[in-house]
Amino acid sequence: MSQLQSQTWHHAIAAQNLAELFQSRTDPSHVFAACDDGRVFTYGQFWTLAGRFASALKNTGAKPGDRIAVQVDKSIEALTLFWACVRGGFVFLPLNTAYTRWEVTYFLEDSGAKLFICTPARETEMGGLAQLLTLDDGGGGSLMAVDHPWTEDIQSDWDDLAAILYTSGTTGRSKGAMLTHGNLASNALALIDIWQFTPRDVLLHALPVHHTHGLFVGMNTIALSGGQLIFHRKFNADAVMKDLPRATCMMGVPTFYTRLLQHADVTRETTRHIRVFISGSAPLLAETHRAFEDKTGHAILERYGMTETNMIASNPFDGARRAGTVGFPLPHVSVRITDPATGASLPDGTDGMIEVKGPNLFQAYWNKPDKTAEDIRADGFFITGDLGRIDAEGYLIISGRAKDLIITGGFNVYPKEIEEVLDTLLGVTESAVIGLPHDDFGEAVTAVVATSQTLDEAKLIAALKTQLGAFKVPKRVLFVAELPRNAMGKVQKAELRRIHASLYRPV
Ligand code: AMP
Repeated sequence: MSQLQSQTWHHAIAAQNLAELFQSRTDPSHVFAACDDGRVFTYGQFWTLAGRFASALKNTGAKPGDRIAVQVDKSIEALTLFWACVRGGFVFLPLNTAYTRWEVTYFLEDSGAKLFICTPARETEMGGLAQLLTLDDGGGGSLMAVDHPWTEDIQSDWDDLAAILYTSGTTGRSKGAMLTHGNLASNALALIDIWQFTPRDVLLHALPVHHTHGLFVGMNTIALSGGQLIFHRKFNADAVMKDLPRATCMMGVPTFYTRLLQHADVTRETTRHIRVFISGSAPLLAETHRAFEDKTGHAILERYGMTETNMIASNPFDGARRAGTVGFPLPHVSVRITDPATGASLPDGTDGMIEVKGPNLFQAYWNKPDKTAEDIRADGFFITGDLGRIDAEGYLIISGRAKDLIITGGFNVYPKEIEEVLDTLLGVTESAVIGLPHDDFGEAVTAVVATSQTLDEAKLIAALKTQLGAFKVPKRVLFVAELPRNAMGKVQKAELRRIHASLYRPV
């Protein structure tokens, strides 16, 4: 074990919690965020507003450890609420604005939230669910009306909870991943280190902030390196291209990059000032990686993480950024590949379950000890549910989700393998392979292909037969204009399975 691996991640840090770390690493006079609505916040103004919000939360009767559920539009104030929770010892619980009252009811009940902050526009709809305050994306709402002085930050320590993030869960109900000050700080510092962030960095931020990517990867790498955000409330390719010359880096989901590729202004010249383009949250197609490099000269840096673990692995900043891989484990993070059935470690080069351990790992699922015990092994490794392998040079390659595995007539079929072949065929923009209920096979391999052309199903199947074993060849290929994706750009296979559930078993 290297000296770095054997030391705790915070051995050289004087700060005892996120609030102290923030203050030790930021300059109050430096600009923290320049927003697309023209507003500019220095670090000093941002921190004062966080104190003001902390006192407003305390004024409602909230005590350290209480959960503060927040379902508001993206704004600097939404980010401020996280730091208000950090300063007041509260637990930040962000929710996607797409959730309905019915869904919100589950999150509030499951978490036992003390307070719910929603947009003024939904105040009536959300009435009666919990103690309510409102906040809009321009600095309006009942939260802003409360202005009590904030005297002193709560002295949290690294093991105290800072946030609960509910997993985006494509099956079953979401689980609340409990994240501590230490989980978030260790991960942000590891990313700042490997991606070489400094106070001179300016990050173009166009990601949602209810999710780990925009919230913790995007905000914390900047806030804890003392750099600046160019803050866009939504991703819009024109707006991005207008502001890109002022930025030094951008983070995005793969869809951002496929959209930018279609934009006429994306050239070597317009991206010359960018230090690094980073991608994550969903697989970046090797083809997108190559096309972007051809057009701009930048090899997109792909990384891998999840709500429960923060970031796990990243391609190198210096060194080869390999398309189709997610690089190496972060400092202090261990990754191993195991047999999904027995849990035994597998040698490099073999596909299996990706397991992770380190200071990045969440503590438990809120109020779900059984689920926690199912997913975290006795030796502290978390079973991610992602399948993958480590190649000869140590790069991690993700080969799919365990729950996407198709079992057809007793054979295991990994959708990714078929998707990769399908994606090379003429006219196929993208594909998703799923298993659908079938009387004979249990599950029948089925492909859904996104295309802008009129393709011949029989010809595609014949082409696949020349490359794949018969049991892997889809029984049917369905055509769509676009695959369904969630806000983070992930293809929603559960949705495809639901829509086509009766394809082989008409009801
Ligand atoms: P979430 O908890 O919403 O962030 O989703 C985490 C999941 O996104 C992971 O378990 C992976 O399945 C997927 N994911 C994240 N980053 C990548 C990546 N670079 N390549 C492939 N899948 C990814």
